[in-house]
Parts: sequence; structure tokens; C-alpha cells
Amino acid sequence: EKERIFSLTASPRNEAGAVIALIDQTEAHDAERMRSDFVANVSHELKTPLTALSGLIETLSGAAQNDAEARGRFLGMMAEETSRMSRLVSDLLSLNRLEDADVITRRERLNLCDVIEAARRSLSDHAGARGISLVLQGCDAPAFLLGDADQLRQVFNNLIENAIKYGDENGTVTINVTREDHAALLRGPAIRVAVTDTGRGIGQEHIARLTERFYRVDRHRSRQVGGTGLGLAIVKHIIRRHRGWLRIASKVGKGSTFTVLLPAE
Ligand code: ADP
Repeated sequence: EKERIFSLTASPRNEAGAVIALIDQTEAHDAERMRSDFVANVSHELKTPLTALSGLIETLSGAAQNDAEARGRFLGMMAEETSRMSRLVSDLLSLNRLEDADVITRRERLNLCDVIEAARRSLSDHAGARGISLVLQGCDAPAFLLGDADQLRQVFNNLIENAIKYGDENGTVTINVTREDHAALLRGPAIRVAVTDTGRGIGQEHIARLTERFYRVDRHRSRQVGGTGLGLAIVKHIIRRHRGWLRIASKVGKGSTFTVLLPAE
């Protein structure tokens, strides 16, 4: 069982004795630790590109100044580090908005297939660059639900992008949409979308932690492919706001399937 933390307060002593109170501080302590871990993580994530940038600036103002080829290369690297920072900041802002109870999630009637199709289109160049084909199944008919198109677009963007980033080169990413009259988990009609890749897979010990902010299986690989470590945390929040479920199944060396279950209209 988890260790609990108490604080002890005592009233001043008088003839009747003293009152001693034990106050359970475990939750306040956990919240404080999470907050300080989060600040440490964000600082670290920003520090890495900043350190790279200041090194590049130094090199550019020295030897590389008169070398056109080196100058171009270094400027390209600077642009990359800058866009890494802006991705991080925009993911942090998204996450912050999603955690704010006052920010509403729209409930508009929409065809989930349109949302998925838009996400797929915007990622087709990225997939093409890795020789990956994006296959969409089950969208010959519409899949209606009530939801927030922008937020749902972000869910499928993140899931498909991950499948491309961590999928095998020249592999396949399959997006399969099915409709269920009665999903036990939702006690009603549902739309199920499974995003499957033929990639490296994820060890069982990591799966439960994947949606934590900044949790990565392979930090180096995530950095290489331009990840922020926040994508799946954002996905989890949006699905929760739509009263849905996310299930992750994976086999190391074979690939992964991220399944989203959402209440249908
Ligand atoms: P990142 O920006 O690092 O991709 P995410 O929150 O989107 O952050 O994902 C967290 C981690 O989960 C990734 O760093 C990666 O290790 C792992 N991951 C996510 N999707 C996949 C996938 N389709 N195949 C293998 N690993 C994945």
C-alpha cells in the first residue's frame, strides 16, 4: 500500500491538556510533486533546443561565417530547433486548455470519417517520405457523432503521426473505422477507430504510462523524429472529454494498435 504523509499540529497546552491533530497531506504532497516534476520536465525540454541554438549561433559567428555551405547547413539546424520549441509550446498550450474545466468541448454533429480523412491528407507527405502507405477502411459510409471537430482532428493527427514516426519504413498504417450498435464499455452505440502500424512495437511495461506527459519509451528516437512527448497526453484528454476510451495493444517487433472508442450519435 502507498505510504501516506501526515502533518502534525498541536494546540497550545492548557489545564485541560492539548489537542493534537493528524492531517493527511498525501494528496497535497502528490500534487506539489507532480507540479514540480512538470516544471522540471518543461525546463529540460526547452533547455535542450536552447543549448543547441546557442552553440549554433556561436559557430555561425565564428569560423562558419565565411563558408556559405556551412552557413546554410547551420541555419537549417537552427530552424529545426526553433520549430521544435514552437511545437512544444503549442502542445503545452493545447494541454493547458484541455485541463481547464471552463474550456468547452463542442458537441456538433459531424462525420468522423471527414475528420480522419483530413488528418490523413495532411500527413500523406510525411508518410510518403518514409515509404509508408496510409490505408483507410470503413469510410464508404459516414460515421456520425457529436463532438468537437478540431479536437478530434488532433486525436487522429497525433495517432496517425505516431504510427508514421514509429512505424517501419515502407510499412503500412491502417486506419479501420467500425460501428457498433452496442458497445459494452459505453453502454450504447459507438464508433471504433483502430490505428495500426507495422513498426517497432511497445513493451508491455511501458503501455500503461504512455499517456503520461513527457513519457517516452526511447527518448533519443522521440527527439530524432521531432516528438514533444505530449501527443498521447493530449489524445487522452480529448477522448476523455468526449466520454470515450483509448486502448493500446502492442507486440514488440510486430507493431501497435491504438483503438479509440467514441459514443456514436
Ligand atoms: P512523442 O512526441 O514522443 O511521440 P507521444 O506522447 O505521442 O510523444 O508518445 C509517447 C511515446 O510513446 C513515444 O515517445 C513513443 O516512445 C511511444 N509511441 C507512441 N506511439 C507509438 C507507436 N505507434 N509505436 C511505437 N511507439 C509509440
